[in-house]
Amino acid sequence: MDDCIFCKIVAGEIPSRTVYEDDDVFAFLDVNPLAEGHTLVIPKGHHETIEDLPADVATSLFAAVHELTPAVEDAVDADGSTVAFNNGEAAGQEVPHVHCHIVPRFEGDGNGPIHALFGGPGEMEDDQLDAVAERIKQY
Ligand code: 5GP
Ligand code: ZN
Repeated sequence: MDDCIFCKIVAGEIPSRTVYEDDDVFAFLDVNPLAEGHTLVIPKGHHETIEDLPADVATSLFAAVHELTPAVEDAVDADGSTVAFNNGEAAGQEVPHVHCHIVPRFEGDGNGPIHALFGGPGEMEDDQLDAVAERIKQY
């Protein structure tokens, strides 16, 4: 995509601190890191969200995330990491080219789990849980 910033990074038109590359996947440091070592893992082709990814590219993407997560943690001596996608505009995705964030985490960093995005654990009636589980299974 001509006006996509991440496509331009893959093409080398915008410089990046590249940390990994294979046939399908490209990874580089986030320019505004949430923690030292914050890395973005992207498909080389332009796909906006997870559901747009062809299955083989999704497999390659997760294989790269699997390899890179320990590499990122080791590079900054992290105690763990938050590995996440902002998937779609409603979820806060700003760059419409699917990307996985690997953000190193440290004991006592105070940033909380993904649950903190929603203010804590949710509650739902059993029949609602059953119904949504069924819809997901049917899909
Ligand atoms: P999103 O909010 O879409 O999930 O995250 C986009 C991420 O891309 C942000 O964390 C932002 O700092 C990063 N980003 C945006 N533009 C650039 C860029 O030109 N270079 C790099 N390395 N990261 C970028
Ligand atoms: Zn793109």
